[in-house]
Amino acid sequence: MEKNIFGRKLPRLGFGCMRLPEGQNGYYIEDECQQMFDYAMEHGMNYFDSAWHYIGSQAMIGKCLAQYPRESYILVGKLFFNDGTLGTWEKAEEAFQKELNDACTEYNDLELMHAIGSPESIRRIDAMDAWGFMRSLKASGRVKHIGISFHGTPEMLEDILTRHPEIEIVQIQANYYDHNTDGARRNGGSVETYEVCCKHDKPMIIMEPVKGGNLATVDEHQEIKELFAKTDAKATPASWALRYAASLPGVLVVLSGMSTLEQMQENELIMMQNFKPLTTEEKEMLRQAAKIIESKGPVGCTGCHYCTDKGCPANIDIPKVLSCLNLLHQMNNLRMARLNYYQTIAKHSPRDCQNCGSCERECPQRLPIRKLIREADAKLYAGEEIDVWANH
Ligand code: SF4
Ligand code: SF4
Repeated sequence: MEKNIFGRKLPRLGFGCMRLPEGQNGYYIEDECQQMFDYAMEHGMNYFDSAWHYIGSQAMIGKCLAQYPRESYILVGKLFFNDGTLGTWEKAEEAFQKELNDACTEYNDLELMHAIGSPESIRRIDAMDAWGFMRSLKASGRVKHIGISFHGTPEMLEDILTRHPEIEIVQIQANYYDHNTDGARRNGGSVETYEVCCKHDKPMIIMEPVKGGNLATVDEHQEIKELFAKTDAKATPASWALRYAASLPGVLVVLSGMSTLEQMQENELIMMQNFKPLTTEEKEMLRQAAKIIESKGPVGCTGCHYCTDKGCPANIDIPKVLSCLNLLHQMNNLRMARLNYYQTIAKHSPRDCQNCGSCERECPQRLPIRKLIREADAKLYAGEEIDVWANH
């Protein structure tokens, strides 16, 4: 029996509301959103994950759920303290109240501190005592439970959960690829991060079960296709990934950021109607699949950030650029790699590199960083005019 802080039955699949159906003009398509929320409610998927940062998402939730009694669904919000925008309790209060107003509710069932991950984010959160702010929300009754969404190292999570036992729940990344390979320590997706939650007896919400969509297609990997087909010819790649996350002990809900009704219907079949926990043999099969993906030549960046801690004079986010290159090499997914790359270089790109070599002197993995970031740019940058979000 999982530890369930909500004290009520939870759906295995939660609706991540960060990618609601959008038109060309960037506005949500209201009738498509409404169809998805209705379908979710009719099929017991009444867990809705949103955030102050997901512009417009909470207002759409408020509209689409207006006809349903408030107690019939679980609403989750998140406040982003990392960049200093919500650097005081007054600003945080304003943002939180906006969340409630937009979603037409008097309370959130769960409020998370959003995307905790870097040492800098922890310094800011400690300095303004955002922990105290979160406790005050709970004390006021406007939030039923508090937690964190986490993207850092296992050591950082150990420190947070030791210092802050008031944190009731942790939202982490978990997927069969990251759990069976070595690259996910920094982004919070490693099996060690999962184990820290277990050690502290914290229930978990899982995000990125399909690794940003990358595990949903293995068309380019003949070996994996054969492996999957041999085990169950009818199962889709996404179903393996979702079932892996939902089979982990301690997991309450697995989130999927669905943006079409078809996706939702497909996921509902896998996770709600026909769910089967993975067998030991199936877990071993997914471990083999992860190893095959890993063998496609990853760049051995561990995400330690030593290269940027001393300060890249061009402010290039080197580990993220390298992770985009890995997405391209390992997953053969140009669209996803390019989408991530364009987000990564929004402010500073490898084309700004001053060739100082400082990053390479600091890198414990001795990576030829300058060459690799140039390679990433050559393969992933296609000019300013392309619409990387098209068909996303
Ligand atoms: S060589 Fe380029 S990427 Fe490396 S630290 Fe210098 S400016 Fe930054
Ligand atoms: S120092 Fe090397 S291994 Fe560490 S994040 Fe930078 S490139 Fe990756």
